[in-house]
Amino acid sequence: MFWRLVSFLLCQAFAAVLVWLLDTGPERWTAMAFAALAGCYVWLLLDSLRAWRLLRWLRAGDTAHIPLGSGFWGESLDRIRKLVRHRDRALSDSDARLQEFLAALQASPNGVLLLDAEGRIEWFNQTAGRHFGLDARRDMLQHLGNLVRDPALAAYFAARDYRADVVMPGRASTSSVPVKLSVHLHPYGGGRSLLLSRDITAVEQAEAMRRDFVANVSHEIRTPLTVLAGFVETLQTLPLNEDERSHYLELMSQQAHRMQTLVSDLLTLSRLEGSPPPPVHDWVPAQLLMAQCEQDAHDLSSVLWGSARVLHFELDAGLEIAGAATELHSAMSNLIGNAIRYSPADKPIEVRCSALPDGGAMFSVRDQGAGIAPEHIPRLTERFYRVDRSRSRETGGTGLGLAIVKHVAQRHGAELSIESAPGKGSCFSIRFAPQRVRLAGAQLDVSA
Ligand code: ADP
Repeated sequence: MFWRLVSFLLCQAFAAVLVWLLDTGPERWTAMAFAALAGCYVWLLLDSLRAWRLLRWLRAGDTAHIPLGSGFWGESLDRIRKLVRHRDRALSDSDARLQEFLAALQASPNGVLLLDAEGRIEWFNQTAGRHFGLDARRDMLQHLGNLVRDPALAAYFAARDYRADVVMPGRASTSSVPVKLSVHLHPYGGGRSLLLSRDITAVEQAEAMRRDFVANVSHEIRTPLTVLAGFVETLQTLPLNEDERSHYLELMSQQAHRMQTLVSDLLTLSRLEGSPPPPVHDWVPAQLLMAQCEQDAHDLSSVLWGSARVLHFELDAGLEIAGAATELHSAMSNLIGNAIRYSPADKPIEVRCSALPDGGAMFSVRDQGAGIAPEHIPRLTERFYRVDRSRSRETGGTGLGLAIVKHVAQRHGAELSIESAPGKGSCFSIRFAPQRVRLAGAQLDVSA
């Protein structure tokens, strides 16, 4: 500011001195006064020119090129430039933070949608876009109610009670693959709201499965219990002879046995779900498993058919499988038991446990029974799913056998596959990965 004043005075003094040197007439002092005034105008003109250049620079917003060097306007410009730079940096910092925040919201497994006071969409993440079928380029600033026309959601907005969530079908929902969303609106500052959506299809399915399971177990237990109660009443009320009494007691024993089998299978399933993974270094000889299965098969076919069934056992000698012996035995025995129960007595059953070229192993049971229609095959491992309910009951089935087999296979990193066609018999196989298989010895053939 000091130099600005000095330059102003110097400009006037320079003009006055110039006139004083050139003009020696009587009007010298008046001329000097005019010259000083003219100097003042020249200074003002130059100063205005610099101010105009500053204004032009500000209008252009060109922060890279600085038009003025030093002086009052130069320093003003430099300070403005620093201020602008500082603001720019703060702006880009907050922009980066905003981007990080939005990226975090994008990564959320839940749908996040921001609505303005009028219910127009301000922003949403990809999950919300998927849940509601929204397009970021097309649907921004549109009313959500116009884009998502679901009666439950419309009623939720109309009621204006946002304490609980609302359940609605997702955009991708179809009758064969239903998608369920839980949507919750949270109002916040300035009439805006945050809408959160969560895919609860799996939770709903698990809950439905749990309900079905409890209903199935109750039903399975209630049937033999009702029969038992009926027989007890008969024994208590009717005067029966010895033969009739023993007949009823035999029937009661069958029902009690049925309940025992069911409870035992339920316990096996719950143990499989709750116990740690089977060991990877406990090697179980396949020959031992086959011998146990053979004995089970013999016992079962004697009970069911009154005589031993023809079963061909074939296994690669020295084959060992890493895992829990009891679980492996239970799975293999279940498959052999099913073959015995669901195929005619005169048809042979082939049981094979062989090493595979990739170092794994395959356990398979092939029967020549009635076979299974393709639409049932994907559901066979569901708990209590039966194709032929009465045959299953007659032969002491619980509907849990294949669920147990599938569980055991999964726990051992193995895969259960089912090949079957009506009238052509079935083949159930468990394929073990090379990590769980080792071989030592020669080929062996066992027939029963
Ligand atoms: P279950 O105790 O009823 O046998 P599973 O889970 O072992 O229950 O089997 C489910 C259903 O699959 C059975 O009810 C039966 O209808 C069918 N199934 C299983 N194995 C065979 C087979 N080898 N041949 C034909 N049907 C079978």
